[in-house]
Amino acid sequence: MDKARIKKIKETLVKKRPLVIDKLSKEDKEQVFEFCEKYKSFLDQSKTEREAARQIIDAAKQKGFVDIDTALAGKTKNIKKVYKIFQGRCVALAILGKKLSQRGANIIASHIDSPRLDLKQNPVYEDLSLGLMKTHYYGGIRKYHWLAMPLALHGTIIKSNNERIDITIGEHPGDPVFTITDLLPHLAGKIQSNKNISEVFEGEKLNLIVGSIPLGDDEKDRFKLGVLNCLFDQYGITEEDFVSAEIEAVPSEKARDVGFDRSLIGAYGQDDRVCAFTSLEAFLDSEPSEKTIMALFFDKEEIGSEGSSGAKSNFLEDFMSDLLLISGEDTGNRSLRKALIHSSCLSADVNAAMDPDFKDVHEAMNAAKLGFGICITKFTGVGGKSGASDASSEFVGKIRQIFNHHHIVWQTGELGKIDQGGGGTVAKFLAKFGMNVLDCGPALLSMHSPFEISSKADVYMTYLGYKAFYKNND
Ligand code: MN
Ligand code: MN
Repeated sequence: MDKARIKKIKETLVKKRPLVIDKLSKEDKEQVFEFCEKYKSFLDQSKTEREAARQIIDAAKQKGFVDIDTALAGKTKNIKKVYKIFQGRCVALAILGKKLSQRGANIIASHIDSPRLDLKQNPVYEDLSLGLMKTHYYGGIRKYHWLAMPLALHGTIIKSNNERIDITIGEHPGDPVFTITDLLPHLAGKIQSNKNISEVFEGEKLNLIVGSIPLGDDEKDRFKLGVLNCLFDQYGITEEDFVSAEIEAVPSEKARDVGFDRSLIGAYGQDDRVCAFTSLEAFLDSEPSEKTIMALFFDKEEIGSEGSSGAKSNFLEDFMSDLLLISGEDTGNRSLRKALIHSSCLSADVNAAMDPDFKDVHEAMNAAKLGFGICITKFTGVGGKSGASDASSEFVGKIRQIFNHHHIVWQTGELGKIDQGGGGTVAKFLAKFGMNVLDCGPALLSMHSPFEISSKADVYMTYLGYKAFYKNND
């Protein structure tokens, strides 16, 4: 066979793995950078699930979306663009199309909670003349990531008189920050050398330094009292108020460009606010069409999607039933089931990109890489696909066709080597309704760390991919 023919065969048969940046025009590249400026400011404004929910609702309201509960209470008809917020931590948006119970909706579901350190309910204490606060970590963290770095406190406090206070301390240049100390290397040897990493860093040792000026000169616990006095002076809160508070310690650093060429973004909370933001933008840029489209933003994914604001809850069914009601369709159980079963869903979550320093945990042929576009993850789970939602070949085929048709640069990914570990997403909690679900989002480096890395080109491709999915009308 001649060389030209072999070349032709190769071009036809071998799967291509294009790098996004090679596929972009000069104008496209400018778009990528512009889009990511907006993304970075979304990250800076959305360091907790409540803040992300507020950003999402604000953006939707600006585009004319109305609260579905208010609309239903006022018996308003002919509304196409609606939102629902639940417990301030879980959001749904929809643009209504036709025949929802027969055709279902195109759904993109992400999560807006991220790993962090929550304050305990009785947090304040003192030790060695320092005021301290105890934390309880949330989600999968590597504890040592959180030591010796500036942390901000974000949260909501419900006082005894039911007054609600939202606090953000440590985000503005003049604000104080908080920190968890680490052992100096000079003295770490003996304590740490014979232990494995999980023994060295203990959950009960993630305590924040919050002050060091005492109140009074011979009071008992006068350093703790100093802290409580500051809190009362500045926020009017007492020690008991922490019982009804959700306060999260998060990295105080803002989202930053990474690299001489500024091609990457380093920021806290990109898992999974990168998918929340790109799906939000794709959703808000979509025109009303035949098929209903929906964006879901869940809480509690990082701890198993539990509780009333997580994907295991009845939130989606409730919202779907509201949508049937507002569009004048039958709201019976059968219609609701049909609307759900006929829906298609992208479970919008991140995957782990292959790390040049830790290649061994991945299987190179099937691992996602930074810069190679939106990543399709057919299944998640642990060793032998345990706990996975495994998308059907038909649905993967459909998404592949949509992406190829719209020139979306995509890749596939697996979460590490088979026996290495694994993880899950909200996919299986949506798949239980019978709808088709596929995990799909960008890959990150340093996932679950306080400084996760994404590729701007991937972020933009994710936005374009989600937009293409929403556009699909069959
Ligand atoms: Mn995630
Ligand atoms: Mn995660």
